[in-house]
Amino acid sequence: MPEPLPISALQHLVFCERQCALIHTEGLWAENRLTAEGTVLHENAHEAGPETHGGVRVARGLDMRSEALNLVGKSDVVEFTPLEAFHGPIAETVRAAASGPGPPLVGWGVLPVEYKRGRSKTSPEWGDCDRVQLCAQALCLEEMLGVEVPEGRLFYGQTRRRTDVPIDGALRDLTRRAVARLHALLASGETPPAVNDARCPNCSLVKLCLPQVAAGRSAAAWIDRRLNTLDREAA
Ligand code: SF4
Repeated sequence: MPEPLPISALQHLVFCERQCALIHTEGLWAENRLTAEGTVLHENAHEAGPETHGGVRVARGLDMRSEALNLVGKSDVVEFTPLEAFHGPIAETVRAAASGPGPPLVGWGVLPVEYKRGRSKTSPEWGDCDRVQLCAQALCLEEMLGVEVPEGRLFYGQTRRRTDVPIDGALRDLTRRAVARLHALLASGETPPAVNDARCPNCSLVKLCLPQVAAGRSAAAWIDRRLNTLDREAA
């Protein structure tokens, strides 16, 4: 069995496969304001320690693992909530899910909460990478704890709001496909070509990957100039 891959790599993959390969295959990393703020948000989430409020047990920095997906990671927050605290349509689902085979957790709903800076990020191929990362955490918790996790939450630092995310069949399928692609990409040792689209200006690796974009110039114009230079040199 190959080494388990970090859940965080999934978010890189879903955002941009080249970014994922540059970080996890080639070992490149560049901090920008967005990643630095994200790191502080995660550290604050982990350092607060466990607590109980309103009957909800809050665990922070929980080690997570899935043998089936060959993933490892660390949660920001996992909330263990007594079932009577759930109301509305989600209540029946959680009640049914939490009556699974894990004795210590019978009677408790399990909700992973992931902290993000800014707003949600999307990519054309995979959609919302934050939801995929959260779903991977839910799948790990299900395997570890023997209960179903029907819902997770994303907390965005910029708006300081929590978004409820149903861990439904479509998201589970998307996440499993992303996990399979992550393993295949990193096993191949290949780095895909740059996408050069709307994702790039906010990417922490843009200066390493596409310096012409980082400098505020059009990549197409840069490529034209390079081709003209090569034509002149060949003439
Ligand atoms: S700069 Fe663009 S192509 Fe390069 S890694 Fe970042 S998002 Fe991907």
